[in-house]
Formats: sequence, structure tokens, C-alpha cells
Amino acid sequence: MPLDRTACDELDRSADRLDGFDALRARFAPGAPGALYFDANSIGPMPHDAPERMRRVLDEGWRLARRRGWNDFDWLEQPRSLGAAIAPVLGAGPDDVLVADSTSVNLYKLLRTALAARAPRKVIVVERDVFPSNRYVAEGIAQAGMATLRLIDRPDDLAAALAPGDVAVVSLSHVDYRSSERLDMSVLSAQIRAGGALSLWDLSHSVGAVAIHLQADGADLATGCGYKYLSGGPGAPSFIYLNPRLRETVNSRLRETAWPALCGWMGHADTFAFEPGYRPAPDVSQFQVGTPPVLANAAFSAAAEIWRDVDAAALTARHRSLTDTLIALLDEHCEGFGLHLASSRDHARRGGHVALRFEGAAALAQALVAAGVVLSARKPDSLRFGVHPLTTTHGDLHEAVQRLQTVLQTAAWREPRFAGASV
Ligand SMILES: *Cc1c(COP(=O)(O)O)cnc(C)c1O
Repeated sequence: MPLDRTACDELDRSADRLDGFDALRARFAPGAPGALYFDANSIGPMPHDAPERMRRVLDEGWRLARRRGWNDFDWLEQPRSLGAAIAPVLGAGPDDVLVADSTSVNLYKLLRTALAARAPRKVIVVERDVFPSNRYVAEGIAQAGMATLRLIDRPDDLAAALAPGDVAVVSLSHVDYRSSERLDMSVLSAQIRAGGALSLWDLSHSVGAVAIHLQADGADLATGCGYKYLSGGPGAPSFIYLNPRLRETVNSRLRETAWPALCGWMGHADTFAFEPGYRPAPDVSQFQVGTPPVLANAAFSAAAEIWRDVDAAALTARHRSLTDTLIALLDEHCEGFGLHLASSRDHARRGGHVALRFEGAAALAQALVAAGVVLSARKPDSLRFGVHPLTTTHGDLHEAVQRLQTVLQTAAWREPRFAGASV
């Protein structure tokens, strides 16, 4: 049966009524009129009440309460309470997640923690072609003499990389930012642990798109972006996860030989004791360094309250239905134009976005933006449809593929105004 508009609308109605997704979608603000948004892999959509929450911090907190804001509001608890709110979609315990700093900074903290926990092992294994920060941060640690890098091309190379028995940590992207290839967290975490190393997962392109099972899958350490599918707002803080299984190991190492990578007062075991010496907090709080970004956390709190109400299994089911529909629509309407599916057809091996390959990807992305379909391109030829499971509808996908088909049929993307553009 062809997936016409009626069939897509019917999928929306049945799925939404069943799992309450219509109510969840209503908690987000609409975007620009006429624009269909598929860039949640860059910045997720805005919850309705994010501006009001920020306004309250400015007005009631800053203008009126001033210093008392710290006492009268929950500003200091937010790194933990926001972490607890997103923990269910991470498959983590509520006490095992902290919201703080950026993903790049958290990668640094976690790599250093792993090196301390697995000393004297000194090797960091990282993917050669990973998102730049993930590699650069590891390179910087090696440059400072604190580790040695071992680059791998693909997870298949892991066995050989682990074989010498000197690896402290393997840093992996759960989902590739270009192809959307999703790795098997359970299998790889087990393999890494068997090799005596810790696994560090970057969840930037899966968190908030599909349910993650950090604890059940045996992941050791994790981080990821708060501003992508999680919808925490532009520049929202990242999160950090420490498997509770590791708490004792990490803490005994910290006592014996090493301290956290960044020792700030907010990561102290007793922040307001103002002790002369540093003592790390015994849990994930040790990853907090300084004062939390209260305004950013106010925006993040709007999304966090939505995530608290999301059923993780239903989230995955809805993302699967949406992205399967997108692929079926592309098969049906966009054959023969040189557009190729770059992601897997198996949902378990896809992350948040559906990736396509197209020789003029950057120009096509610009032409689509002009046609009201907002998505992104990555060099050299990757086109990314970031599907947000709480706000995208099957009807949106149908409309977007119609517009894509028109742009391809009319070759509008070849117009000079779209040449040399970057999205
Ligand atoms: C988006 C992204 C980042 C970005 O890190 P920031 O510190 O937030 O700039 C890092 N790693 C991956 C895999 C990403 O996709």
C-alpha cells in the first residue's frame, strides 16, 4: 500500500493516541511557520515554557532575590535534579547522572577519570574518523604526556587494539554523526571490559532520539549533548554518567593516587565546609567543577520535565515508526536522482537521524531550506534528516519528501544561489 498523506496522518493518530505523544508534542512551541524541521541533531525544538522559566530566573531570581536566589530557588540542586530527570531515557539510575559543562569538557574529565582508574595502563583508544572534539580532547591529553593514543578505523579493530593489555579506556561514539550508524553498546562494552579497559560512550546522536540502556548494557562512562535531541536549548550543558559499579574503584584510586581531572569547590565532598584541602565527592557529583549555569539550566529544566514523562520503550517505537516511514517515502518518491540511503535499514543500527548520500549535498540542503525543509549537510556528501520523536509527525515526513521530490525533479538545487553554500 502506498504511504499517501492519509496513511501518514492515520499513523500519527493511532500512535499518538496510544502513547500520549500528542500531549507531549503540545508541550513544545511551534517553529517558524511553514518550515518543517529536521535538524534536531543540531538543535532540538524549544519547549513552550522554556522562555517563561528563564524570565522567572531573571526577574524573580536575579532582579528581586539577587544573592538570596541561591537559597530561595533550586539552583544548586539542578545539576543533580536535571540529571535525575533525564536518567530514564539513558537507562541510568537517578543518582548516576550529572548535568554540567559541555560535552568536550566532559570527555576530558571522563578520559582522565578512566586513566586514573586503570593506571598504570596509559592507552586511550579512539576512532580515527570520529567527531573532531572526541579525537582532539584525547590528542590533547596525550600531548600533555598523560596518555598514548591508539587510533582505530572501525570497532572490528577493537580486538587487536586491546590485545597488548595496556588500554585504559576506549572512547566510542554511540552513533556516527554522518552515517548515523549505531554501535552495539552491550557487545562492545563487554568486549572492552574483558580487555581490562573502561568504555566511554558519546551519546550525542542517540540521546533523546531512542532509549539508551547504559546500566543494562554495561557502559562504564558516558556523556552527550544537552542541546540536540534533548532540547535543552542552544549551548545547553551536557551530562555525565558514571556506572555505580565503578564508584568504589574510582574513589579508591582518587584516595590513593589521583584526583579528578578538574578539582573545583562544587565537586568537593562538602562544598560549603570550605575545607582547606580537596576531597572529591564520592559519586557523580565529583564531576561538577564550578557554579552551575543557572539561566541555561532554567531552559534545560523545561525539557527535563518533559523527558521525565516519556516512556523510554514508546520513544524508541515512535522513532522507529517515523524513520521507517521516512525511508519508505524516500524509496517511493526519490529513486533515480542520485540520492542514496547511507544509514542502515535496521532501526537498531540507526541513531537519531537518517543519513543520505548525494553528490551535491550542501546545495541540496540549501535548496531544501529555501523550500521550507530544514536539514543539514556534512562534508563531503552527507545529508542528515534529524527526526525528533516528540515533535516530528508522519505527516511532516510526507510533506517533506514531497518537497524534496519537487526540488530533485526541477533540479532547483542546481541554481547558482545554492552553490558553495554550507548548512
Ligand atoms: C555535537 C557533538 C559534540 C559537541 O560537543 P560540544 O562540547 O557540545 O561542542 C561532541 N561530540 C559529538 C559526537 C557530537 O555529535
